[in-house]
Amino acid sequence: MTDVNQIAQVRDAALQAGARGAPPLASQSAPRRSIAGLSRAGLKAALAEIGVPEKQLKMRVNQLWSWIYVRGLTSFDAMSDVSKDLRRALDDAFTLERPEIVAEQVSVDGTRKWLLRLPKRGHEARAPEIETVYIPESDRGTLCISSQVGCTLNCSFCHTGTQRLVRNLEAAEIVGQILLARDRIGDWPGAGAPGDDRLLPSTERKISNVVLMGMGEPLYNFDNVKEAMDVAADGDGLSLSKRRITLSTSGIVPEIPRWGAEAGTMLAISLHATHDALRDELVPINKKYPIADLLEACRNYPGLSNARRITFEYVMLKGVNDSLADARALVKLLSGIPAKINLIPFNPWPGTRYECSGWEAIERFAEVVNRAGYASPVRTPRGRDILAACGQLKSESIKTRAKERTASATD
Ligand code: SAH
Ligand code: SF4
Repeated sequence: MTDVNQIAQVRDAALQAGARGAPPLASQSAPRRSIAGLSRAGLKAALAEIGVPEKQLKMRVNQLWSWIYVRGLTSFDAMSDVSKDLRRALDDAFTLERPEIVAEQVSVDGTRKWLLRLPKRGHEARAPEIETVYIPESDRGTLCISSQVGCTLNCSFCHTGTQRLVRNLEAAEIVGQILLARDRIGDWPGAGAPGDDRLLPSTERKISNVVLMGMGEPLYNFDNVKEAMDVAADGDGLSLSKRRITLSTSGIVPEIPRWGAEAGTMLAISLHATHDALRDELVPINKKYPIADLLEACRNYPGLSNARRITFEYVMLKGVNDSLADARALVKLLSGIPAKINLIPFNPWPGTRYECSGWEAIERFAEVVNRAGYASPVRTPRGRDILAACGQLKSESIKTRAKERTASATD
């Protein structure tokens, strides 16, 4: 089925050199900082820094905004409505660099994974690295992005949880993942091939959905993630619909209503167990915020309706949480909450004590969920050959869509 030899992989300079209009590597232009990914306030401050008069700031920000987020420019030269002098001043002080690509992998099924290196901060011994994954599907293109380097939580089945948190990502670094992915898949108006003859067919090029399901707990980096999603959803820029942005959380209960009220994206909950004893073990933050409190926060999530359901993620762990009794308990637990259930085959990593449930067990489990009124279109695992995404990808999941028996839900 999958053949590792078919994996196309490119590294470092070759990739960077071939990329469409690729800016120079970060390390080669150390004194200039990238302003790609900044919010309007951030761009305004940057322009003020180089002496743009106060009364021009708003107009200049709007110009930059459109070039950066609508056109995807990676240099200032082509900004034709910006004066030559200002373009030069911008270029002297700043860049439009994306995060540096350490490696890019392309699966035989089109899934792409990038290992990205972020600029080193003062105290950091080495430059932190994160992963971003793009999954093309027939009806959508989903980008899975990271919100932190590592994670402070230590869910026992998660590889990221074994890594020491290096730091929160800045808002611009979160947005930068979207810009980089759009560069690499040719998802800008009039974009040419990124230079390595591996451009996707145009039908597969569009990033329509963003999921915060990469590395990190996004609600522990609330302000930066919110700022980044506001940039992503800005109608004059990247224009992603908030209904197509999903934040996944391990269940930081006090932040859930705040996120709903202030950011208003779709929500996914990493549930994984139906009783506290097991969830305490799998998702230890459960000791602080137990299942009952978590589900209460879900019931009250702003905007929740049959058309705006919460996704419950449930990783299938052999002999741990995959029995028929578990399936029945799951259905019972979620009854009354407009929900989708995402059964995720466990993605093993070196040293883990867990195994993925067998296919039959997953099917049996899914059947119970179906019989309770949930539809379950079974999706083929994607990107297996490149171990897509942090071991955590939606793409590797069997998606079961919850349908309230009585409701005529539109989705
Ligand atoms: N920290 C957030 C978002 C990142 S994890 C959260 O926990 O929700 C995204 C999803 O991948 C979560 O549902 C997580 O439980 C799941 N996951 C983590 N490690 C996994 C693995 N090895 N196999 C399958 N899913 C995994
Ligand atoms: Fe962190 Fe999410 Fe992994 Fe848990 S599953 S350790 S919260 S990234």
